[in-house]
Amino acid sequence: MTAFVEGRGSKRTGAAALVLLIALVSSGIRSAHADGPDGVAIEARAAAERLGEALRYRTISVEGGGISDADEFARFREFLRRTYPAFHAVARRELIAEHSLLYSWGDGPEAPVLLAAHQDVVPVEERQWTQPAFDGLVDDEFVWGRGALDDKGSLLGILEAAEHLARQGFQPARTIYLAFGHDEETDGTGARAIAGVLAERGERLEMALDEGGFVLEGVIPEVERGVATVGVAEKGYLTVELSAVGDGGHSSVPPRSTAVGRIARAVTRLEDNPMPTRLEPVVLAQLRSVAAELPWPQRLALSRPWLFGAIVRSAMDSRKTTAATIRTTTAATVIRGGVKGNVLPRRAEALVNFRILPGDTSAAVLEHVRETIADESVEIRTVGMPTEPSPVSSADSRAYVALSRAIVSEFPDALVAPSLVLGMTDARWYEPVAEDVYRFLPIRLQQRDIDRLHGVDERISIDSHARAIRFYVRLMSALAAP
Ligand SMILES: [Zn+2]
Repeated sequence: MTAFVEGRGSKRTGAAALVLLIALVSSGIRSAHADGPDGVAIEARAAAERLGEALRYRTISVEGGGISDADEFARFREFLRRTYPAFHAVARRELIAEHSLLYSWGDGPEAPVLLAAHQDVVPVEERQWTQPAFDGLVDDEFVWGRGALDDKGSLLGILEAAEHLARQGFQPARTIYLAFGHDEETDGTGARAIAGVLAERGERLEMALDEGGFVLEGVIPEVERGVATVGVAEKGYLTVELSAVGDGGHSSVPPRSTAVGRIARAVTRLEDNPMPTRLEPVVLAQLRSVAAELPWPQRLALSRPWLFGAIVRSAMDSRKTTAATIRTTTAATVIRGGVKGNVLPRRAEALVNFRILPGDTSAAVLEHVRETIADESVEIRTVGMPTEPSPVSSADSRAYVALSRAIVSEFPDALVAPSLVLGMTDARWYEPVAEDVYRFLPIRLQQRDIDRLHGVDERISIDSHARAIRFYVRLMSALAAP
């Protein structure tokens, strides 16, 4: 996934009485360590060793699209087949878009459900790692390596659960699809193709579950709970290129403004005039889910958003993580132009990336860009295909309730909060074929772990992995009980 949580940053003071709330939403809350009920017996060490083995396959996505080594993906898929024989004996396995996997298991009158994960991982800067990134080392506490959290931990967790249930003779009373794309970290063509196949077959899923949220644990003195953020929506994506041309020539006789100057001014205008803030219902629901744990001023403010909305928004706007949940964000990411200090530039350009809040559209953002720049000599162009924000899935559907129960069973101290995912996941591809799409990994994440996503020293604890497996066992059992 594109990591959507960021470092804690400096604490602001004086931003109304909502500082705590902001800290809470941006970094989660500490939860007492508690083991889940023993209903599901998992051999944690053996499962961790299997995950370690999975991490040894260098199933790397390459920047710009595609995968690094098709044979490595093939070997990884054979490893899965070999490692989970009981499940493979009862499920149908299809290879889609050459490298993506779609399993279907069970049958029944109710609409199918789908659990998704991805096979690919992002590249590493290996020299910086404490442990080698592709050795799959398992020590006394952790499984180390690229993909431990994102997203082989989940892929293996789902298959461990399916194998566990298949060995017990469990026969799903509806179809459970397991969908493992091969290029989530770049284009998501695998997941898109899987969704396409399901659509062609006229399938209508009750639910699709993919990565996105975590059980976030932070350090908030007043509150002793973790927050399981279940993504019910994700933001959209748009990159805009701004360009300006000039006549070139000697810099001793310049025009009043060069192409470089015009692009710089356009970028400054966009930064100075962000899209307006707005408390979308999904974000309000997220805030309300944790409000009960807060002292009364915050609770009061959240219970009367029509009265205190402006205060809530202004407080949230003061930190970048929470600010990103209340507006379409603007990020100038690339600027270039000119060739030499004494030569007038013939061309200058910049890229600006927008993450679109549900309720906005890429067309509205483009309109905002045009009006804000207000300079006809700056050309504005969309780069690639924009992605609109996802629809918002229900936070009281039967599937959501089943999901919440499985979460509470394994993470008894955690609050379950419907949430907005700020990055992009493969989940979006399943929107057209699913009634509801949820984004959640049953993994505890503390502040110090967040940078490991796409960063160095990615790892998962043996206990966390076992817990994830138990979560998937509970979820599959609940969704497809005979
Ligand atoms: Zn991922």
